[in-house]
Amino acid sequence: MKIIMLGAPGAGKGTQAKMIAEKYGVPHISTGDIFRANIKNGTELGMEAKKYMDQGLLVPDELTVKILLDRVAGDDCKGGYVLDGFPRTIPQAEVLDKALEEIGDKIDFAVDVDVPDENIINRMGGRRACLGCGATYHLEHVPPKKEGICDTCGRELVLRDDDRPETVKNRLEVYHKQTQPLIAFYQQKGILKTVDGTADRKDVFQAITAILG
Ligand code: ADP
Ligand code: AMP
Repeated sequence: MKIIMLGAPGAGKGTQAKMIAEKYGVPHISTGDIFRANIKNGTELGMEAKKYMDQGLLVPDELTVKILLDRVAGDDCKGGYVLDGFPRTIPQAEVLDKALEEIGDKIDFAVDVDVPDENIINRMGGRRACLGCGATYHLEHVPPKKEGICDTCGRELVLRDDDRPETVKNRLEVYHKQTQPLIAFYQQKGILKTVDGTADRKDVFQAITAILG
């Protein structure tokens, strides 16, 4: 099963993608996580991506598409995957479609986690991320057991640089301009499924599993 998660930054794509990956036994692939791992390791790709990420802009398609196509070519992706944060532009979606078509394959569902902008500001301001294992929390909605410490790996939780209020505004603008058109793109293909992302995360997951089967 090949699934794409759509939705504004902070809508809960990562939260749901992790739960889907666990239930269906497929890898969770987040281009944002791949970029952050590269930044942490000081790679050339990481340095380049950081320039855009820190401003709330998208990393150019050329860079992003290559790392994604390399990743989905991995052996662990043969049985499917859940993509979180890719595609974010129409050209990215077209390249992915073409690559899949060449191997006689296709995306099964594009799940749009729908959350209005007002809730997004709160979601991102309260998000805390573990730079060790990538787990995410929310100060009010999904707090860690011990304040400031990751439940999974015990490392310190931080506010991502790009979750600061001044950057969030840019990211939302970029989302509406460059990423939201993907909703119509997948609707036309007949694989768009929309879920109410303002509900509790367990209820959102239940709505998604009802769709995926
Ligand atoms: P995205 O991957 O779309 O950027 P995340 O999954 O990281 O979003 O979620 C953004 C923030 O909102 C995180 O702090 C997360 O813990 C919190 N969150 C996720 N789903 C819900 C939900 N259904 N209700 C409330 N908060 C949520
Ligand atoms: P995320 O972790 O999905 O919120 O992504 C964090 C940041 O990484 C985004 O704001 C972009 O700067 C960059 N990024 C992640 N995925 C993509 C993508 N598919 N295309 C372009 N930039 C991306």
